[in-house]
Amino acid sequence: MPRPVVNGDHPYVFAFGAQTDGGAEMRELLGGKGANLAEMAKIGLPVPPGFTLGTEVCNYFYDHEGRYPDTLHDQVSAALDELEEQLGKRFGDPNNPLLISVRSGARESMPGMMDTILNLGLNDETVEGLAHETGNRSFAFDCYRRFIHMYGDVVLGVHAEGESEEEPFDLIYRSEAARGGNIDFVELADRYKNLILERTREPFPQNVIDQLWGAIGSVFGSWRNDRAILYRQRYGIPATWGTAVNVQGMVFGNLGENSATGVAFTRDPATGENVLYGEYLLDAQGEDVVAGIRTPRNIAELVTEMPESFEELLGIRDELEQHFRDMQDFEFTIERGKLYLLQTRNGKRTGQAAVRIAVEMQQDGLMDDRTALLKVPAESIDSLLVPIFDPQALSANEAVAHGLPAGPGAASGKIVFSSDSACLAADRGDKVILCRTETSPDDLKGMLVSEGILTARGGVSSHAALVARQLGKVCICGASGVTINYEDRVLVVESSGGKQIVLREGDDVSLDGSSGAIYVGSIKNIDSDVHQVLTGRLESTASQNFRLFETLMTWADRHRRLKIRTNADTPDMADQATTLGAEGIGLCRTEHMFFAEDRIDHMRKMILAANEEQRREALAELLPFQRRDFYGLFKAMAGRPVTIRLLDPPLNEFLPQDEDIQTALAERLEMGVGFVVDRIEALHEQNPMLGCRGCRLGILYPEITEMQTTAIFEALAEHGKDDDALIVRPEIMVPLVGFRSELADQVAIVRRVADEVMRSTGVEIEYEVGTMIEVPRAAITADEIAWEAEFFSFGTNDLTQMALGLSRDDMGSFFDCYTSKEIYSGNPFSTIDEIGVGRLIEEAVQRGRATRPDLKLGICGEHGGDPASIAFCHRVGLDYVSCSPFRVPVARLAAAQAALQEL
Ligand code: ADP
Ligand code: MG
Ligand code: MG
Repeated sequence: MPRPVVNGDHPYVFAFGAQTDGGAEMRELLGGKGANLAEMAKIGLPVPPGFTLGTEVCNYFYDHEGRYPDTLHDQVSAALDELEEQLGKRFGDPNNPLLISVRSGARESMPGMMDTILNLGLNDETVEGLAHETGNRSFAFDCYRRFIHMYGDVVLGVHAEGESEEEPFDLIYRSEAARGGNIDFVELADRYKNLILERTREPFPQNVIDQLWGAIGSVFGSWRNDRAILYRQRYGIPATWGTAVNVQGMVFGNLGENSATGVAFTRDPATGENVLYGEYLLDAQGEDVVAGIRTPRNIAELVTEMPESFEELLGIRDELEQHFRDMQDFEFTIERGKLYLLQTRNGKRTGQAAVRIAVEMQQDGLMDDRTALLKVPAESIDSLLVPIFDPQALSANEAVAHGLPAGPGAASGKIVFSSDSACLAADRGDKVILCRTETSPDDLKGMLVSEGILTARGGVSSHAALVARQLGKVCICGASGVTINYEDRVLVVESSGGKQIVLREGDDVSLDGSSGAIYVGSIKNIDSDVHQVLTGRLESTASQNFRLFETLMTWADRHRRLKIRTNADTPDMADQATTLGAEGIGLCRTEHMFFAEDRIDHMRKMILAANEEQRREALAELLPFQRRDFYGLFKAMAGRPVTIRLLDPPLNEFLPQDEDIQTALAERLEMGVGFVVDRIEALHEQNPMLGCRGCRLGILYPEITEMQTTAIFEALAEHGKDDDALIVRPEIMVPLVGFRSELADQVAIVRRVADEVMRSTGVEIEYEVGTMIEVPRAAITADEIAWEAEFFSFGTNDLTQMALGLSRDDMGSFFDCYTSKEIYSGNPFSTIDEIGVGRLIEEAVQRGRATRPDLKLGICGEHGGDPASIAFCHRVGLDYVSCSPFRVPVARLAAAQAALQEL
């Protein structure tokens, strides 16, 4: 529990170290960094002591024009006294100075916030004390000049003004370095101080208490700087969260060859492998690792360079995982052989790593299967199913270079050297690989459209690696044999044999993001090994990914309540979906069966028919095609339920608009050209999507519904004769119903024809008739409609279109503007608009079940494969979701998560 620093006062300051006030559960008050520093200190991990000013202070600061609570100064100085006591040093003492870092830390890690200030407490006197104490004057002044630089930049605002100006501190640094020999840090510190005097007309602050409050004020001030506001808006972080400030005793990784600093993950964040993963720099201070000034070394090399510290890190890795029960991303510093931890948090990971880590942590007893399921973002499962390089093609090629495998997967494409050319080429439909020396946030656009990303420099904490982990991109970074020359637009590979290969923009390369190997040319892809096992082409023992997939899916199926169906129109799609775990078909679009070349003309003949007789003639020609298609589909579904939608689209989608083709058609159908042109003209509609489509077609032309029903039941009868046990129970679905009477009209036809077929074939078939709910009127009169319907399937594509009065095909012109003005909270065609469309669905569920308590409910719109929408479907009590075949695994996982979240 928080301990009031000054008796009776509200606590604003929380210590960590010998005595620790907070813990991981206090994230809201202490920020993520502060809460976990406290947690680590509490469980005895080696954390330099310090204290945290809570987020409440930030809110107070903004509510009171930049003032602090009255007791804050006393609480800070009490905490500082305690810190001095623990470390045996005094803040501002020229003989034995305490140095601290001041670090921001919101609830969620937030780029855009103030940069950390290290070495605070140095001035012209204390720097001599540090020099004396460490016996290393150059080190002391290096710390001092770093401090002046950071403080000058962040607190005093001395930085480049405008794009053309160079960073003024860097300019001075370079001119010093250019003089050759060892850098004179004493001289450098002087020049930095002069720069500050020139720019601010004030000398660099020598009073250490002033330094501290200056830094604290800057952290709070940065909560409302433009960068932070922008970031918060994008990610929906409320301004009221505020940031905390962490003040912490300094430790030094730059005290010579037995000192180091680094970042590490408790498992490989790219593959999920259970190994210590990370990088470090010898004789360096914190920011150097991320800044990319020197290329860090792989953590594995620490075994030989500092064996004892490496052993200690392995122990810490276990302790962190045992305690936090998740993969951790942590910062460490080794000061003259002694190891310190400076930060830990749950590590970001690729989809593949997310699955592997969750499964293996369950197996290691670190979490149960429920927790493991919730730890894997549903989309991640996809990364086990993406195509891989054909091993044969791969062995015929030799890798020309290797880099760090930062984003698993296989990618081939044309080389591009900039974000802009990536976007241009992608617009043309080319697959591209973005190749950069290093990436920066400016490259994001290009990274998004690329198949893969290759960088010549940078390690596991580089921007490219970070983005690859978050976006699931194939990525190889820090490929040291690769040099990229932007000016000549060439990529030069220095292969191990000393050979040079020069590649130009537009040349093909292939990246194996799982091994880090780079190949010249494009390499053939094949199905993922998971697919291969699922389809019997590979032994399950040969694929680790398959075992991961199978384990996670088994857990998911155990916990989910929603059934998962698929939208499929062909036996192939049905096979693909059932292989991935689909339990039925939620939407078979029969119109897709009419577009194939051997039947489209029969369809057109039916549409162009001048009277019922001609129409029936054409329908009779279509019947065998349709029956055969259904037969194939039912066979593939082997007894699983299949929902078949009667003909839905406006008829003129089947007709040619081009005059020459119309003429040719007239000849083939032996109709007059004039007649065909006139009929097509007559079928033209102003708003086809709101015209003669859906159930209106079957009401206008009952013979269409009759033919489709005949085809369905004859196919079933045939199938039933072949194999009685696997006979499908069909659900015949009437589209675009808004009135009970519309549905009643069609149901009567279906039942009559079904009876006729059953009588004539002698095969008894159980079936259901129901409707799509996709017209708002149907949703709000669902109690009426349910008298006629044995099931509802929410057609959320049309329901969204009609509820919002928004055509999905025409929203392109204004959707970006809507997004940037935050008019819509997201794309309503990707994730159900719960407040509007969702309310229609809930209304329909309640009304429908009031009339018919055993009404079966499902969803067949695009939303059926979207995790957030699946959670909604679970909450409102649907029986199943139906999605495209390749989304089935994602839906299984999302459905389980929805069920577990409810507990
Ligand atoms: P960020 O949120 O950008 O990672 P941090 O506050 O974690 O910023 O700090 C930046 C760098 O400074 C990190 O490498 C961190 O380990 C290092 N650092 C912060 N405080 C200290 C300290 N007290 N002693 C040594 N290094 C520190
Ligand atoms: Mg950090
Ligand atoms: Mg529809």
